Amino acid sequence: MSDSHDSLVTGMDRQERTDGPLAGYTVAVKDNISTAGVRTTCGSAMLADYIPPYDATVIERVLAAGGRLIGKTNMDEFGMGSTTETSAFGPTTNPHAPDYVPGGSSGGSAAAVAAGVADIALGSDTGGSIRNPAAFCGVVGLKPTYGLVSRYGLVAYGHSLEQIGPIGRTVADVARLLAVIAGPDDRDATCLDEEPAAYDAALDRGVDGLTIGLPTSLVGGSDPEVRTSFRATVADLEAAGANTVELELASLKHAVAAYYVIAMSEASSNLARYDGVRYGHRVPDAGDWNESFATTRRAGFGDEVTRRILLGTFALSAGYHDKYYQQAQDARRWIGQDFDAAFDEVDLIASPTMPTLPFELGAAERDPLELYLADANTVPANLATLPAISVPIDPVDDLPVGLQFVGPALSEPRLLAAAATVERR
Ligand code: GLN
Repeated sequence: MSDSHDSLVTGMDRQERTDGPLAGYTVAVKDNISTAGVRTTCGSAMLADYIPPYDATVIERVLAAGGRLIGKTNMDEFGMGSTTETSAFGPTTNPHAPDYVPGGSSGGSAAAVAAGVADIALGSDTGGSIRNPAAFCGVVGLKPTYGLVSRYGLVAYGHSLEQIGPIGRTVADVARLLAVIAGPDDRDATCLDEEPAAYDAALDRGVDGLTIGLPTSLVGGSDPEVRTSFRATVADLEAAGANTVELELASLKHAVAAYYVIAMSEASSNLARYDGVRYGHRVPDAGDWNESFATTRRAGFGDEVTRRILLGTFALSAGYHDKYYQQAQDARRWIGQDFDAAFDEVDLIASPTMPTLPFELGAAERDPLELYLADANTVPANLATLPAISVPIDPVDDLPVGLQFVGPALSEPRLLAAAATVERR
């Protein structure tokens, strides 16, 4: 990696046309999105030499829209993390504060945009991985409604939770990239039959007359200085004509636990293919098949990925399935119902994107449980398959802070309009 913040793992230069909605835009791509002929590592030693033979659907669409692909961005290994420090290629640093993490797992994409390495970027969000680094790097990031954007060519981590989405310096850039990548795809059976809306036309609709719910647990659970910045923005939204109400969403206290059980369970299955035979790096002459499999996986995966495969395999194993996986699915359903009921009363839900300021760099001392808890505000939208956006608000001590809006399914135009209102303040 050579750019100033180590945001890129691999440089590339591909452009198919010079007209279209992305003409003149340079685009960086998270390294878990397949690019034909350009290695796609997922931030893992396991895939350090993997060169996909095909493009993801979103890559085809960006090229057809005139975008110029400039590189693959660093990420937490297989998307598992919140700091971009679990990458086998070393960390990316925060362009606003070099001693701090850029967030994760799409930290390379957010840093590339914040540093001007690319105009816009693609990330993926399983439990916050677009919104978290957008918040920490002071840029805009959107996780679409589940099924709005094709996952064909996205290397799976937690397939029932994740979506590819846009990162940009402005809400308008995010709207533009979303319009290019959204829409039906026969190659992804979970894709909705839903054409993209006129996202850019929604941008100056404002928030006048909208009711915005403020979940007490997500606001109250945030650090005081983050909360102060958040409250100042909420006051401006009220001045712009929004009504605000406090919301009690009792199910949310189970969100982090449910998310990690489901994400790890899905990961344990999705990562089974990296055995050195079907996919991935292989340790040579490691013995019989069992020994070779174990040695190869031990060498190819980092500690966080290994931890999650072990925990996920455990959660799915006979005798424990009802105790963990089934309970997590029950909690997921409850969270979905809580949001449904809330959206009978409110148009949008707002909270700080991250409950804390960006963390200082320093992987060695990081406690995994503390990191998991920092996902409290972002994972509910993934569990409920709802769209969510993070937009920059007032920094604290020169460190970026993000505000998150979550809306009902396919309410991306409303999310973008609200985020644009925050951006204009
Ligand atoms: N921090 C979360 C995790 O580690 C989110 C990751 C993501 O969205 N890919 O699972």
